[in-house]
Amino acid sequence: MKLILLGPPGAGKGTQAKMLTEQFFIPQISTGDILRAAVKDGTAMGLKAKEFMDAGGLVPDEVVVGIVRDRLQEKDCINGFILDGFPRTVPQADALQASLAEMGKELDRVISLDVDAEALVERLTGRRTCKECGRGYHVTFDPSSVVGKCDACGGALFQRDDDQEETIRKRLQVYADQTSPLINYYRDAGVLLELDGMQPISQVQEKMLSLLQAS
Ligand code: ADP
Ligand code: AMP
Repeated sequence: MKLILLGPPGAGKGTQAKMLTEQFFIPQISTGDILRAAVKDGTAMGLKAKEFMDAGGLVPDEVVVGIVRDRLQEKDCINGFILDGFPRTVPQADALQASLAEMGKELDRVISLDVDAEALVERLTGRRTCKECGRGYHVTFDPSSVVGKCDACGGALFQRDDDQEETIRKRLQVYADQTSPLINYYRDAGVLLELDGMQPISQVQEKMLSLLQAS
């Protein structure tokens, strides 16, 4: 299955993608995760990307398009993939289509998660992530059993630098301006499935699986 999870920051793309990787044995490709790893490793690309990420803006298209093009060639993508946080602009979506066409592949589905702006702010300010295994939590909606510690591996939980309210509001505006046109883009392509992301995590998961099975 070749799938895109589309939606604003905090919509639950990463949370649901992790569930889908276990269900379908296909990798989650999160450009945000890949960029944060590059920042942590201090690579030239990471240093360049950091400025844009800290400001809540988008990293230039050519950088992320190159990352995804290379990642899709890896062996584990042979049976499919879940793109999480990519594409985020129309040129990125066009580039993805071109890369897939070169590989003789086509997207199956794009699932768009819809969540109210104020709920997004609440989700992002309360988001916590494990430093070791990357599992996500929420201080209220999906807390770890021991505060600050990952249930899965015992690693320390941290809050992302860009999950501060001011940067969150900037990121939501960037989504509205540059990414939301992709909803119509994929609707016109006939691959869009729309899902109400305002329900609890387990209900979104159930609905997503039944939508995918029905389509
Ligand atoms: P995204 O990848 O779209 O930016 P995440 O999956 O990281 O979003 O989710 C953002 C935060 O919201 C996380 O703390 C996560 O635990 C929480 N969350 C995800 N889905 C839901 C939901 N359906 N209801 C409440 N909180 C959620
Ligand atoms: P995310 O983890 O998806 O919330 O992404 C965190 C940040 O990484 C974003 O605010 C952007 O600065 C950058 N980023 C992630 N994916 C992309 C993308 N597809 N295009 C441009 N910038 C991206």
